[in-house]
Amino acid sequence: MDKTNYTSDDIESRYTPGAGIGVFAKRQLQPKQTLYETSDEYFSIIYRRYWKEVCGFCYNYDSGLDWKLKENHIGVVFCSEECRSKFMKRIAIAPDLHAFLISVEEFSRKRKQLKTAPDPEDDDIIPDRRIIEESWTDSQNTLLDIVNTLASDKPNKAQRKLLSEVQAAGLRAYDEDSDTDIDSIKNLASYIATNVLSPSTVAHTLTLSTTIEPCTLSRLLDQQINHYLALVSLLPPSLSQYALSAPSIAKILAVDRSNSFGIWSGSSDLKCTHTEERSELLGSMLVPSLSRFNHSCSPTVSKQRSRHTWTFSTTDVVNADQEIFITYLGGDEKTLNVDDRRQRLVNGWGFICGCVKCTNESTQSDID
Ligand SMILES: [Zn+2]
Ligand SMILES: [Zn+2]
Repeated sequence: MDKTNYTSDDIESRYTPGAGIGVFAKRQLQPKQTLYETSDEYFSIIYRRYWKEVCGFCYNYDSGLDWKLKENHIGVVFCSEECRSKFMKRIAIAPDLHAFLISVEEFSRKRKQLKTAPDPEDDDIIPDRRIIEESWTDSQNTLLDIVNTLASDKPNKAQRKLLSEVQAAGLRAYDEDSDTDIDSIKNLASYIATNVLSPSTVAHTLTLSTTIEPCTLSRLLDQQINHYLALVSLLPPSLSQYALSAPSIAKILAVDRSNSFGIWSGSSDLKCTHTEERSELLGSMLVPSLSRFNHSCSPTVSKQRSRHTWTFSTTDVVNADQEIFITYLGGDEKTLNVDDRRQRLVNGWGFICGCVKCTNESTQSDID
């Protein structure tokens, strides 16, 4: 499988003017045919609130009970010795990645010791895309200074001061009453860790388009930038080459907002993070390969997660040259009417669904 172009013997991604990129069958596909399977080409985080209850390797969750196998120093727990050993083996690919994850966890815990929370004066301003991109671009020079400092054998006084300043600024950027800032730190750290473990996954993500404005509060934008600079300053020198540029991080954050799905308890399928009420939202996941598929309310491919492995397979016959669709609605498209489906897709993904099912149903209701 060529991941960036998303091509195999069966499928390929293709650009169609007006419709953007979609995935098409190269030959006739039979029902239940596996198109793609991956165990590591994605980003994921477990929300801090649940970190003791969700296996860091396979996302196993046992009705809110804490798992006993803990790797406290990196803030991860496991449901079995097998999961722990697979996880530890994976991060051992890069010798210093473990050390980086320890620093990230220490950093996450340290910020709670601060007495004063950041000033929330800018809280209600929602920056537009241009402001977000400019802010990230402005931080690129500082980022380069940090990376140069990490690479130098003997950092001078100014360089040492820079590292301690960005770390202090990162620590100050915290939320007083919740753990969402730790989620933000862990999310940004997962971009760097994924770049170490699977650079092609990051490269693939950077080619994806975004469907909604990366809307966020000014305070959160500053928080993300301060957290990211602090995280880069924590990198062991051998990993400094894996620090993503500030504009790349801005792009991944935007792709993440448009394409990520929740990890839900009691469910092996992805669910829409905005509407699900049946189970607990344990974390979130960005699977770049999934983002190549467009949405239809009558999908022809299903996505299933079994532990940490994702499988995409056909649900029906798909003829050669036909586009293949997933659903972004996590199964709810079967019960919702056209208006509710469209509303949900507009809210979550910023588009009005024009799939065959919606088109037929809305024409039908016009006639009625
Ligand atoms: Zn497990
Ligand atoms: Zn539709």
